Amino acid sequence: MKNTHQPTVCIHAGSEKVAEHQSVVTPIYPASSFKYREMGNNVYPRYFNTPNQQVIIEKLCQLEGSEAGILTSSGMAAISTTLFALLNEGDHVIFSKEIYGGTFSLVTNEFQKRGIKYNFVEGHEVADFEELIQDNTKLIYFETPSNPLLTILDTKGIVALAKKHQLLTVVDNTFASPINQNPILQGVDVVIHSGTKYLGGHSDLCFGAILSSEKLMQPILKTAKLYGGSLNAMDCYLIERSLKTLSVRVLQQNANATKIANYLNNSSAIKNVYHPSLAEHPRHAIAAEQMNGFGGMLSFELATDDMRAIGDFLETLKIVQVALSLGGIETLICSPAETSHIAMPPEERQKAGITDGLLRLSVGIEHADDLITDLENALKKVRIGALLA
Ligand SMILES: *Cc1c(COP(=O)(O)O)cnc(C)c1O
Repeated sequence: MKNTHQPTVCIHAGSEKVAEHQSVVTPIYPASSFKYREMGNNVYPRYFNTPNQQVIIEKLCQLEGSEAGILTSSGMAAISTTLFALLNEGDHVIFSKEIYGGTFSLVTNEFQKRGIKYNFVEGHEVADFEELIQDNTKLIYFETPSNPLLTILDTKGIVALAKKHQLLTVVDNTFASPINQNPILQGVDVVIHSGTKYLGGHSDLCFGAILSSEKLMQPILKTAKLYGGSLNAMDCYLIERSLKTLSVRVLQQNANATKIANYLNNSSAIKNVYHPSLAEHPRHAIAAEQMNGFGGMLSFELATDDMRAIGDFLETLKIVQVALSLGGIETLICSPAETSHIAMPPEERQKAGITDGLLRLSVGIEHADDLITDLENALKKVRIGALLA
C-alpha cells in the first residue's frame, strides 16, 4: 500500500481481509482476551493493540506519514495523555493562543497542580514564540488553522525554532485533517486528532488519535496504558468505515467551503470572512504553501451586532443546522460567543476578534448552491429585520 495516493490509503491501508470467507471488509474482533502463548505479545484493548485498533492506526500512520500511533477514546484523551506523558514537574510549555477550549481548560486547571509551567503566545509570528522560550521550556504546542478565526501559523518556521532549541513540537491537526495537512512531514514530532470531527465525519463517533515516531510513542503508550483511554472494537469498526470516505468527504468540504467563502466575501450583508482560501486572508500564502487544501471550516461576521437579527438569521436557516461540533457531512453553524467562548470575558473576546456577530460554519457535503441559497434567504431576512428594528 506504500506509495499509493491518499484515497487508496483511506480504503485499503491496514484493512484486514479474511481469506477464508472472502470478505472484503475487516471482521470485528470484540475479544478482550487473546491467547498469549500463540500471540507472543500481550493483546488487550487497553494496550491499544487489538486487531481493529491496529487497522485504523495503520491507515492514520500512512495518511499522516507517521511511524506509529494509538487510537484514544476522545480527542481530549489524546491531548491529556500526550502532554502528561511528555511533561514533568518543572517543565515549561509554550501554547499558541488560539487553542481548543478543552485544551485551554486542561492547561489552566491541571498544570499548576502538577508543577508544569506554561505561556500562551499573544502574536502569530515565529518570533513571538521565540520570545517565550526559557531554560526549562520542553515543548511547543499549537493549532493551525485555529478555531474559530482560521489563523494560520507557520509550521516549518516553528519547527525550525523548536529544533534550534531542542524542543518538542505537538500539533492538533483536527481542523485540517490528514487530507489537507501533514505536520509530521513538515518536521512536527507529534500530531493529535479529535477523530470526533473529520475522521469520524458523520457526527456520531467520539475518539482521538496520537501519531508520532516509534521512539516518542514509547513514553506516550506507557502513560496511555495507565490512563486507560482506549476504544472498543465496535467503535473501531465504524471508524474504519468512516475513514474509507475521508478523502472524498474532505475534498468536497474544501470545494464547498471555498465557494461559500467567496459568496460571503462578495455579500454586502457580511463584514468579514475568515477562510484561508481567500487572497485577503493575512496568511493565505503560508496556508497555500503548507496545506494541500484550505479546509471545510470558515467563519464570518454579519454586518450587524444586533443579537436579535443574528438570532433571526440562525432561525431562518433550513439546511444549515445550528449545532455544536464540526467536521461532519452535514453543514453546521454556531456562534462562538454563545458556545465555545462563552466563558471568555466579553472585552477579551472582542479583543481576540470573536465578536458577538461572528458565526462559525462547518461546511458539509450538501450541494454548495443549496447551502448558498439557504444562507442568502436567511441574510435577506436579517436585512429586513435590521431595517425594521
Ligand atoms: C473537538 C476538538 C478537540 C477535543 O476532541 P474530543 O473528541 O471532543 O475530546 C480537540 N481539538 C480540537 C481542535 C477540537 O475541535
